[in-house]
Amino acid sequence: MQPDTTQRVRGFVRGRLAPSPTGRMHLGNAWAFLLAWLSARAAGGEVVLRLEDIDPERSRPEFAAELLRDLRWPGLDWDEELRTLASAPHAQLVDDGSPVYPGTCRDLGPEQRENLLRQGRRPCLRLRCEDLAVVFSDLLAGPQTMSLTDCGGDFALRRSDGVFAYQLAVVLDDIAMGVTQVVRGDDILASTPRQIFLYRLLGAPIPQYAHLPLVLDHEGERLAKRHNSLTVAALCVAGVSAQAITGYLAWRGGLQDAPRPVDPHSLVAGFDICSIRRESVRLPADIMGVLARLG
Ligand code: GLU
Repeated sequence: MQPDTTQRVRGFVRGRLAPSPTGRMHLGNAWAFLLAWLSARAAGGEVVLRLEDIDPERSRPEFAAELLRDLRWPGLDWDEELRTLASAPHAQLVDDGSPVYPGTCRDLGPEQRENLLRQGRRPCLRLRCEDLAVVFSDLLAGPQTMSLTDCGGDFALRRSDGVFAYQLAVVLDDIAMGVTQVVRGDDILASTPRQIFLYRLLGAPIPQYAHLPLVLDHEGERLAKRHNSLTVAALCVAGVSAQAITGYLAWRGGLQDAPRPVDPHSLVAGFDICSIRRESVRLPADIMGVLARLG
């Protein structure tokens, strides 16, 4: 019998929150986690929390503790928690400007290989990808056809420092945890064809995907570590309530007609991830003031 590697369409939903403990949670992360949580809960499904702490240089236990606190603050909850070896891939994303694999060591002969090893070079293990087109359907971004070459070509499974790379780790973890729905920022969309390719090779069912529009600062930049003032922790210190943050994000996503403070649990009934507004959420310059006035 052929393995079932079709993309899931319906059935029991098991979603996941997969923060990387490499920094503080900002409004962009809060937006993605809120919507991933709502999507699973609205379907009567389960939520798994997975700390993606693969990157030994960037992950820190204090960030992990803060992430848990910041997720619980508005009232998000989960049915299972796992610390994992998966990592955040932003630096590897092709549409993020990172390099495509030029095939440097793709066709080395045994002698060249020996020479490099003798020089102390440690190999990165890559999956050889032919120029396949991967077709999938995204609940928000719609039907997608992306070639593995356009996504960077042969991709890393294990880095030269021995750490398993994001693409493999995330797929193995999602399979092991029975995840059926992946809701995350659309900065990771270019990773999805590579992950689907791995699902196919492993003979596992492919989850439903929903790639969310990103949260941007007032200049249109994706929120990142340098946006210290837009971390959930900084907003909390400034007296902003968790309900104000949730209410503001819910309003920007089209879930309520005004940015009034709200408890995430009261947004569950009738929530449909497909009805989220599809444009990026550009924050006003005085977002801190806007949120503080909400309560
Ligand atoms: N760990 C990633 C992040 O914090 C998410 C990866 C994923 O959802 O697959 O952005």
